[in-house]
Order: sequence, then C-alpha cells, then structure tokens
Amino acid sequence: MKAEITGVKRETHDVKTLRVQPEKKIDFIPGQYCLLSIMGDDYPDDSKPFTFASSPEKDFVEFTVKKIGEFTSALHELKEGETLELGKPRGKSLNFDESVEKDVVFIAGGSGITPFISAIRYSIDKDLKNGMTLFFSNREYRDIIFKTELRHTYEDYSRIKVINTLTHEEEDHWDGETGLIDRDMVERYVDDVKEKLWYICGPPPMIDSMEEMLEYMGVSSSNIRFEKWQIPGKHD
Ligand SMILES: Cc1cc2nc3c(=O)[nH]c(=O)nc-3n(C[C@H](O)[C@H](O)[C@H](O)COP(=O)(O)OP(=O)(O)OC[C@H]3O[C@@H](n4cnc5c(N)ncnc54)[C@H](O)[C@@H]3O)c2cc1C
Repeated sequence: MKAEITGVKRETHDVKTLRVQPEKKIDFIPGQYCLLSIMGDDYPDDSKPFTFASSPEKDFVEFTVKKIGEFTSALHELKEGETLELGKPRGKSLNFDESVEKDVVFIAGGSGITPFISAIRYSIDKDLKNGMTLFFSNREYRDIIFKTELRHTYEDYSRIKVINTLTHEEEDHWDGETGLIDRDMVERYVDDVKEKLWYICGPPPMIDSMEEMLEYMGVSSSNIRFEKWQIPGKHD
C-alpha cells in the first residue's frame, strides 16, 4: 500500500521518525513490522523491515529509523510529500494488545525501543491497566530515543515505569542507571518476576544474555518473548 510522508522528525544524531499517511487504514498490532520500500528511481531497489512505532489507534503511521547503511540512509533523506510502499503487517513474537492480561516488562536496546513505544502509546490510548516496566539500554545519553516522551509518560502514569541505563558513558548530570542490564538491576525494579510477561528487542547478544538471565531467575520460557533483528531479509 502506498503511503505519503507527512512529517519527518529528527529524534537523535542518527535516528529519524517518518510519519506517513497510508491510502487506507492499516490494521496492525503493536509489536508488528512491515517491509518498507521507497518509491522512485533514485532510491535503492529494495525493501527492508521496520516496526510500526505509532499506536494503531492513530490515523497516521510512524516508523523510527536508525541510520546504519544504504537503505536507512535513503530513508533519512526523504522529505514530506515523497512516497513509501508499505507491505502487510507481519510478526507475532512481540505483539501486545488488550488480550495480554499480565503486567509486562520490556527490555530494549537502542532502536529496539520501537515495538515497545507502540505498545506504550497504544496502552495509553486505550486506557489499559497493565503495569509496564521498560528497561531501556543505550550506549550514550545522546543515543536515547523518545527521551522527553518517555520522561513525561513515567511522570504521568504510575503504572508505567521507565529505567534508562547507559553502557558507555557517565554524564555528570546523569541520574539513571549505568552498565548492562543484569539480575541485580532487574530485581531492584521488578517484583514477582515469574508472574510478568517479558519482551526483549535489541542486538542479538543482548537478547541472548537477557533470555539466559531470565531463565536463571526462574522465568518460564512461555513468559519470554523476543525478536532478533540481526539478519535483514531473513526475518520471516
Ligand atoms: C523485524 C525487524 C524490525 C525492524 N524494525 C526496525 C525499526 O523499527 N527501526 C530501525 O531503525 N530498524 C529496524 N530494523 C532493522 C532494519 O531493518 C535494518 O537496520 C535495515 O534493514 C538496515 O538496512 P541498511 O541497508 O541501511 O543497512 P545494511 O547495509 O543492511 O547494514 C549495514 C550494516 O549494519 C549491519 N546491520 C544491519 N542490520 C542490523 C541490525 N538490525 N543490527 C545490527 N547490525 C545490523 C549489517 O550487517 C551491515 O554491517 C528491524 C529489523 C527487523 C528484522
């Protein structure tokens, strides 16, 4: 389906959000993604997977894109009025909607925040009651996407907790966590770990270590959901 770009927002030094207006409403579940291609002869003849970052309750769709190679650089060059082609929504592993009854814990590394910002936005739009705890790991302060929105969410909704950690930098003014997410950090913020539904999205080594940590903490594998983003093209 064709979708016109109606807004471009710079989020960080290497991340932009594209807001698009699809020809007709797309029914997706927070956590899903689609294949994007860029319409026009000047662009890579390719399609790559990107997660719906907006809430499905909105009449626009947003993708938040980290620039790492040819295709993502081309996406960063796009301007309002240009057109994307969106494939159908795909993916099950990170889906979150009102059928989820448990409180959830999201563990995100860098651009792995996108499925979870969609879920958080959706849960606010629908006034859902799930407790939500987000552990968000980044290298440096300047890498944190959605800083302001997440801070306001944390301040405004007592059921939503946001824990930021920086792995490569300690800023003088930084009052969040530092270092990799580990058992000690998790247990300081989450009670009854076996009762929660855990979602992980980020670089493959992070997913492997988080999965191992959760299993060691006694979380059943049926309560752990994750998606590895490592092999573009071999994701389905
Ligand atoms: C299901 C799914 C959902 C995704 N959702 C998003 C999203 O919402 N936002 C977003 O910014 N990205 C997302 N990605 C990743 C995105 O698809 C890739 O970043 C993109 O395909 C890279 O294309 P490229 O041509 O710019 O870079 P490439 O030329 O393909 O890659 C450049 C370099 O980066 C490495 N690389 C590629 N992808 C990754 C990766 N994911 N992690 C680490 N190294 C990588 C490659 O091995 C290569 O060395 C998602 C991936 C999957 C599988």
